[in-house]
Amino acid sequence: MPIVAVTDASRVPDGTACATDLEGLVAHLRAVRPGVDSVLVSHTERGEALARAARLACGERSVGLLHVPSTATAFFASIGAVRLLPQECLGLGGVVASILSSTMWTRVVLSRLGEPGTPVPTFSQRLRGAFPGARFVVDPVSGVVEPTKELVAPQGVIVLTASSAPATRPDSRIDLTAGGAYRYDLDLGSDGWRARRWTEATVLTRQVEDVVHHALQPSSYAYYSTCAVCGRIAWGERCIFCQVPLLVRDDLAVQTIGGIQ
Ligand SMILES: [Zn+2]
Repeated sequence: MPIVAVTDASRVPDGTACATDLEGLVAHLRAVRPGVDSVLVSHTERGEALARAARLACGERSVGLLHVPSTATAFFASIGAVRLLPQECLGLGGVVASILSSTMWTRVVLSRLGEPGTPVPTFSQRLRGAFPGARFVVDPVSGVVEPTKELVAPQGVIVLTASSAPATRPDSRIDLTAGGAYRYDLDLGSDGWRARRWTEATVLTRQVEDVVHHALQPSSYAYYSTCAVCGRIAWGERCIFCQVPLLVRDDLAVQTIGGIQ
């Protein structure tokens, strides 16, 4: 399978190859025919380090590394999109994840702040967190704690959620009705946010198929490069296969696509 996620099976769409240790990742890579491209996709610092180690262990340029820093629910959607890329376009995983990110909305409701991985609370937030029923709405992309107690999701097509144990999830503070007709709950077990009560939600405002289609439109190719070393199509600062910097044309110094038109 060309796309391998560095995470647990409960955090990826059905049928996605994944592993959380070096041995498992190497086994997936060795199951791919020699010379056929595959990409390790991570979203945590530990996952990124594991992916690098697995690539080194296999010693192949046909193994790409794509790091997409994101929460569990956002990463689930990113994996779903990157998996739709045709084999010859795996070097575009970064741009697909980037466009998808610009169309997603993710928020986390936490019962307290200040634990590892959560924003550092202000004095007043620390005081508020000491009271039962305290809730903080966090934008995990900006790290901003929003001044609201209620959370209303934007209009979307799919809602991805993850929560602390059902008895403690602060669902009543979240209105996800506009987020989409289809809702999928991820079970993160004990590996979620560091708070007693928490809920994370990601709303996809566009279908992942539309995002990939947009990235593969002929007009989008003006933003891409060809890696000078391996000749693969690529996007961003480095080729995900060779890890060498890409030559950026002067007139295309900013390699971003402004969302989906
Ligand atoms: Zn390359």
